[in-house]
Amino acid sequence: MALIVQKFGGTSVGSVERIQAVAQRVYQTVKAGNSLVVVVSAMGKTTDGLVKLANAISTNPSRREMDMLLSTGEQVTIALLSMALQEIGQPAISMTGAQVGIVTEAEHTRARILHIETQRMKRHLNQGKVVVVAGFQGITSIEELEITTLGRGGSDTSAVALAAALQANFCEIYTDVPGILTTDPRIVPEAQLMTEITSDEMLELASLGAKVLHPRAVEIARNYGVPLVVRSSWTDDPGTWVTTPKPQGRSLVNLEIARAVDDVEFDTDQARVALLRVPDKPGVAARLFGEIARQKVDIDLIIQSIHEGNTNDIAFTVTTPILKRAEAVAAAIAPALRNQSNPKTEEAEVMIEQNIAKVSISGAGMIGRPGVAAQMFATLAEAGVNIQMISTSEVKVSCVVSATECDRAVAALRNTFEIEAGKEDTGSVSTPILSTQHSATPVATTGETPATHWLLSTPHSPPPVRGVALDMNQARLAIRQVPDRPGMAAKLFGLLAQHNISVDMIIQSQRCRIVDGIPRRDIAFTVARMDGEKTQKLLAQAATELGWGEIVLDSAIAKVSIVGAGMVGQPGIAAKMFEALAHNQINIQMIATSEIKISCVVAQEQGTQALQVIHAAFGLAGSEKFVVPA
Ligand code: ASP
Ligand code: MG
Repeated sequence: MALIVQKFGGTSVGSVERIQAVAQRVYQTVKAGNSLVVVVSAMGKTTDGLVKLANAISTNPSRREMDMLLSTGEQVTIALLSMALQEIGQPAISMTGAQVGIVTEAEHTRARILHIETQRMKRHLNQGKVVVVAGFQGITSIEELEITTLGRGGSDTSAVALAAALQANFCEIYTDVPGILTTDPRIVPEAQLMTEITSDEMLELASLGAKVLHPRAVEIARNYGVPLVVRSSWTDDPGTWVTTPKPQGRSLVNLEIARAVDDVEFDTDQARVALLRVPDKPGVAARLFGEIARQKVDIDLIIQSIHEGNTNDIAFTVTTPILKRAEAVAAAIAPALRNQSNPKTEEAEVMIEQNIAKVSISGAGMIGRPGVAAQMFATLAEAGVNIQMISTSEVKVSCVVSATECDRAVAALRNTFEIEAGKEDTGSVSTPILSTQHSATPVATTGETPATHWLLSTPHSPPPVRGVALDMNQARLAIRQVPDRPGMAAKLFGLLAQHNISVDMIIQSQRCRIVDGIPRRDIAFTVARMDGEKTQKLLAQAATELGWGEIVLDSAIAKVSIVGAGMVGQPGIAAKMFEALAHNQINIQMIATSEIKISCVVAQEQGTQALQVIHAAFGLAGSEKFVVPA
């Protein structure tokens, strides 16, 4: 007998008929021999309606009263669903967050879960009842009983947290789409349903997946190894499994806030190849990495930084044993990259750096917490470690530093983030292992469509590219001539973190220029578009004190990313992405990579086309068009 948490979103419980249909599904799952905790959202657009009511009375309603108001939506659904279950002869009991004992931070309207009491739920389950829990809500403490909510869309988070606390066999998220798609079907109707995705990939695709699954829910699933499936409420189709290797036992205390960083990794077996002054035009990255892929050189980080004038720097890291081959390819291609339109410009120059190491911090908890990257930079600065390259993704920040400083950097980072040394650590990423845990449990909760057949037949190596995401809501900032010394990145990103500005891609240029006797580099990064102007102002104010130059803002950008755990150790994936863009005359303005993600910044008006051509290039498009539910 399995213990399952099922969550039904607003649309799935949008009317009496739909609540009755949900009751039927729940009933069938119990009949198949399972114990069930059901988490529900407010009916249909109830929460939006409540927000409107509040705004009609106050332009700035108290956050405490907002929680009091918004938490009522879910309370309606739990009572009605319990009644519907009782009506068909299934014992059930509804419970609010307070009644369960879902204890959160005292942060109204955006609380994170600290702890969940399981005793009362277990008592009812043991009595054969279905426990129907209100999603999205909690209380500040058993004594205070102040009602909190988790932030919009928070019921997914409630469901997965309950599954973690109860050590449920798995958690099912029922929604109005059939699962997770390879890209946004509104832009690419040929998007296909995935049968599975790892939680790491899902987190990297946050901007794509957020509409289907709250990133905080994925974070909990990943941290506690909760097998998760996203399925349609209207069918018995198997949906998409979100898989996680079983993590080491993690405490259920401070469930959502325990730690932002899970691991500090390092790799000293790295060398960097940089090509300086390559022309800023479509096809350059494609040509370079195409040749590199043909030579079967596997690259790790790639960054391309923007520059004043019309040339870029592209740098990438490789493992030391293949450095010679990588260098030869770069040297052979450099003369051909000379800027044709302006033959007087110096030709591209190849720069090799062997004595480098890559240190990274990773952890799902850094999503939406701008202070974490800043803390890493501050730690390195305090340890006197200069950062040569920075590359970021949603759940990872990697810095290239001098090899001689690697030990010091790692020790300082472990200290700051309280990571025990001695964890199995080769520095390079462990190849993601798909969880097979869920295949042992009865997946066919409704008694039919055993979903296990594909689980058993799924090869254990994930595809190089699982999905493609487009983010049109970013702006790019470039700071010219930032002094190249320890502590600059810490000051810069610490300043932004203080103002709660989340930074996405961060790129530091390779080219170092001496201005006023100080070596300087450009740093570029992206932020949410709505933070663009504010960020520019903040940085301009700090310019004199910190000694950097002009701040350039470009809001007309788009970021397109490919994500896939299978790209690790597979040459040619980056080249294929860049080639798809080059064929369509799309210029790449910035490149940043992590082990399982490659992102390119392109001009905003080419964003949609970029997404389409990349999705097609990786063979993700299906023959059937996906119909987006109204
Ligand atoms: N009812 C809440 C909202 O609409 C929570 C949820 O549906 O997940 O945001
Ligand atoms: Mg929702």
